[in-house]
Amino acid sequence: MWRIVVSVFAAALLAGGADAQSVSLTDQRDVAYTKLADGFDFPVGKPDAQGYYKARGYRPNGHLGEDWDGTRGGDSDLGDPVYSIGNGVVVFARDVHQGWGNVVIIRHSYRERGDIKTVDALYGHLDTMLVRNGQRVARGEKIGSMGTAHGIYDAHLHFEIRKNLEIGMSRSAFAGDLSNYYDPTEFIKTHRRLEGPGGNYAVAINTFRRDATINFDLAKNYSASRSVTSTAPGAAKKTITFERVTPLDD
Ligand SMILES: [Zn+2]
Repeated sequence: MWRIVVSVFAAALLAGGADAQSVSLTDQRDVAYTKLADGFDFPVGKPDAQGYYKARGYRPNGHLGEDWDGTRGGDSDLGDPVYSIGNGVVVFARDVHQGWGNVVIIRHSYRERGDIKTVDALYGHLDTMLVRNGQRVARGEKIGSMGTAHGIYDAHLHFEIRKNLEIGMSRSAFAGDLSNYYDPTEFIKTHRRLEGPGGNYAVAINTFRRDATINFDLAKNYSASRSVTSTAPGAAKKTITFERVTPLDD
């Protein structure tokens, strides 16, 4: 009986979080407990991104997130802290290799006009990760540091906010438009203050079912190829382009 109740609850949560997405998870039994987010901040220079600028914005079917860079330029922001934008639970944290490097995804539930909604926030190219899958995190908690995806980019944070909780690292299987994604800055600016966090909330986890076919450990790590093909890391960094690395890349 408890199992059935949890299933229905989780499915309802997911459907609410995904807005217009039709999500059928009738057999979804995996849930985690998270504090509702009481608002969202920027992931760098908390809370208002002070000292950072948006080098690239969200573009539907193009760049599905934002690139945040330090105003000091170059790799001066390498190792700078990256913060959770709100209360939530980590649903993904690992080295994805390819064009991604280390990636953390945090699931945030929040109350808006009486409804509970849920989004995934993705933090990519991290130099270090300080959280693990399943860990609960608080608004403003340091979750990692800005990196280069193993040296293939100038240091920056690639940051996405998804309304569809099934995307995970399988972006190519989902439409890259506003049906699945938010414009991150617009989302944060319109959700700075929300109703109080209240108690623990059950949110569905293990929803990245498309990722099951990916063997992250076997994915090519471009830092290795760079080290043997060039003695000038800076030059190599510029020759590996977004398109050449992988469709997953950003
Ligand atoms: Zn990017």
